[in-house]
Amino acid sequence: MATKANERLENIDVAIIGGGPAGRNAATVLARMTRRVAVFETDTHRNQYSHGMHNFPSRDGMLPTEFLAITEKELQHYGVPLVREEVISVQNAGSHFAVKTAVRKVAARKVIFATGVTDTIPEIPGMQELWGADVHHCPFCDGWECKDVPMGLYAKNENGYGMTISIRCLSDNITVFTDGARNIRGVQAAQLAKRGICIVTEKLSHLVISDGKLVGVATASGAIHPVEKLFVNNGFTVNSGLAKSLGCRTSATGAIVTNRKQQTSVPGVYAAGDVDKDVHFVVVAAAEGAKAGVAIHSELLEEDNAFALRYREKK
Ligand SMILES: Cc1cc2nc3c(=O)[nH]c(=O)nc-3n(C[C@H](O)[C@H](O)[C@H](O)COP(=O)(O)OP(=O)(O)OC[C@H]3O[C@@H](n4cnc5c(N)ncnc54)[C@H](O)[C@@H]3O)c2cc1C
Repeated sequence: MATKANERLENIDVAIIGGGPAGRNAATVLARMTRRVAVFETDTHRNQYSHGMHNFPSRDGMLPTEFLAITEKELQHYGVPLVREEVISVQNAGSHFAVKTAVRKVAARKVIFATGVTDTIPEIPGMQELWGADVHHCPFCDGWECKDVPMGLYAKNENGYGMTISIRCLSDNITVFTDGARNIRGVQAAQLAKRGICIVTEKLSHLVISDGKLVGVATASGAIHPVEKLFVNNGFTVNSGLAKSLGCRTSATGAIVTNRKQQTSVPGVYAAGDVDKDVHFVVVAAAEGAKAGVAIHSELLEEDNAFALRYREKK
């Protein structure tokens, strides 16, 4: 970014860390109220491998890249800089927050963390390659596109019982792969068996791919289980390190704890999107970004009003 832009970025109202739907919508809401904001992003987005976004009214099936291109234009329209730099630290400097990347330091009156989560994709050959295509993490996001075919569920780190029941309405041919783990209790296994669901506890070797499509799951012994769509219930890491180092309270899973206005436990610091505790949907992330934007604008108004009144009294 040019020097002029650097200068412009030195003092801003709100630093938004994260340029997914949460961060971008917070930026739009604030910029439309003429707040000086900047969005930082590392150019990785959780759903970047998705073949179509669902559960967002009027945008069903839209590619995430298209969503990003449109929202980038909207940010440009409102003069919001999209800074493609990783934020490496955020410090409370009393009168402001010092937000640092490798190449700049920005002073912001408020901060929004919209840094999302990172999915734990199993380290099994084929998983990364088919992630978002035939391997999915969320039946609400991709279940409809996967229905009525032989389906698998990978559940090693988590007990897969709940998710198996959840995807049972999508297919009557389901195999659960625990990859060596014994998470599913006896009574649960018996219930799954009663519903015609097969559990494979053997360690996995690789996914079998033909013409770029998933056709099976191979176990260490060489058995191949025909599967065309695979859901993965394997957890994620919340990208809340910067917020934690600022003192924000987090849950046992690392999610940033917020109130109904998206305020964290640290005054002036907000969180929105997957990084907090709520449902992981694009529409929810965008809504939380909007809520954070509205709450921050009110907070800034109060501060500006108090300052203006003080200044007037002195004159
Ligand atoms: C394969 C797949 C398919 C999905 N499909 C759907 C779907 O169909 N419908 C749906 O509603 N949801 C879907 N989701 C979930 C959806 O992607 C998330 O709910 C949504 O992206 C959350 O938005 P967010 O803004 O919170 O986080 P993200 O979109 O993950 O954005 C996080 C942002 O933070 C930035 N960032 C992180 N750390 C830093 C840092 N230190 N400095 C600067 N920037 C940083 C990243 O670059 C990124 O811009 C899917 C997820 C996956 C994995």
